[in-house]
Amino acid sequence: MTLETVLRGSEHRVTKPRQLVWDVLLDAQRHLSAADIVAEVHRRDPGVNPSSVYRALTLFTELNIVRESHVGDTSMWEPAHDDAVIHLVCDHCGRTMHYDTSAVSTLRRQLQRHADFSPGSIDVRVSGRCAHCARST
Ligand SMILES: [Zn+2]
Ligand SMILES: [Zn+2]
Repeated sequence: MTLETVLRGSEHRVTKPRQLVWDVLLDAQRHLSAADIVAEVHRRDPGVNPSSVYRALTLFTELNIVRESHVGDTSMWEPAHDDAVIHLVCDHCGRTMHYDTSAVSTLRRQLQRHADFSPGSIDVRVSGRCAHCARST
């Protein structure tokens, strides 16, 4: 999936801020806050206005190509992925790892049998210590 295909398909143009925000999200091997994205976009092109970054994130959310997760009061962003990929978050350094598990689809099937609730997205977040921090603390 390229950004161009998605944007053209929904009759949006590929603008420089949109392309930069997308590249920053793809390049990051971790979840980024909006402030992180603004800072990295600015590093790559100081001419881009922060409000264009926020507008790009809003558009990407509408197009379902980014995933927003809430960590405390902060929204963290990443390219969209399946619910089956869960997040392992180190509560020492904040590093986020992805972990692919069939447990999410099992949970979804169980919830679908629940009479009083129909599940939408499932966002599993496990806090703990990454291997690096477990060694050094
Ligand atoms: Zn993720
Ligand atoms: Zn850690």
